[in-house]
Amino acid sequence: MKGATRLVPLPRVEKHLAAATVVVVGVGGLGTEVARLLAQAGVGRMILCDPDTVEASNLSRGALFLPAHVGLPKVDAAAQVLRELAPGMEVEVRADDFRYGVGLGELRAADLVLSCLDSIADRIALSSRCIFSGSPRGLLDAGLHPWGGEVRHYSSDGSCYVCGCSPVDRSMPAWHVACGFPPVLGAPAPVVTLVASWQAMFAVRLLFDEPLPEGIVTVDAAAGLSRPVLQDRAEDCPCHEVIDHRYIATTDLTVDSTVEEVLALTTAGERVQSWNPVDRQDALSPLHLDAAGPQRRLRELGIPPAEFLPVLRARPSQHVRYLALRGAL
Ligand SMILES: [Zn+2]
Repeated sequence: MKGATRLVPLPRVEKHLAAATVVVVGVGGLGTEVARLLAQAGVGRMILCDPDTVEASNLSRGALFLPAHVGLPKVDAAAQVLRELAPGMEVEVRADDFRYGVGLGELRAADLVLSCLDSIADRIALSSRCIFSGSPRGLLDAGLHPWGGEVRHYSSDGSCYVCGCSPVDRSMPAWHVACGFPPVLGAPAPVVTLVASWQAMFAVRLLFDEPLPEGIVTVDAAAGLSRPVLQDRAEDCPCHEVIDHRYIATTDLTVDSTVEEVLALTTAGERVQSWNPVDRQDALSPLHLDAAGPQRRLRELGIPPAEFLPVLRARPSQHVRYLALRGAL
């Protein structure tokens, strides 16, 4: 029988998923499970970003973590298993906070960005950064609570994570809700898998350019229900600005370039900024690159690959343009 013994990928899957780059920010319970599902679905390239190492307590909820991984960076442990599960998939790892690990250029170039973070402050920061980058499909965010969670898709013309935040939420420190806040039961593995499955399914639909239900899908394990909840776009939300691509200049700079090489691309009166303090150890450190020595490399200053560095000019009129670093590491 012709072709009966060979598995042939569906042309649609091959085209949309094998060619897709997905960024997964947060590689804990949700992140590992959604990464596993998308790897097995046939995604071609994945960037994993998380600053933490695997602890024994993560083993009960991390779909890709094994006892031998305790002490390893989460991204390395997850990548190791993903490469076994899906040898055709390219996996890149960033063992860092996403503000330092994934540049705006990568968020913009990705086919989809998945937020699998567990603090309000981080979810706000990633949502804002992703929308600002001009990411074409926006952000697919998911979060957990002890007996459920929610999945939300944010695009540049709809509502964003911050639209739904109260002023109190917006000023919250980095509470880790899913891990039990304050010390209550964290989401058990079946709840993690349930919410991650919704997130992965929506990711596949977005990569196929298929529509999603409107609003936030909430998963209530206690009631046995999943249902959409509408969220309006808040017109006064401070996080809807999108970068003006006309002012992005491509360069040959990389994270291994020096401050001096960056400054050589500017003109008199311009100042190159960073999005985060130049000295990572000091939150009050300046946000302009010339505060660092001319021979310092961008990597040492926490500038991520493919970042867009803002260049400000105050006179004769206020203006901002962006220097785009080249691709990944
Ligand atoms: Zn908003």
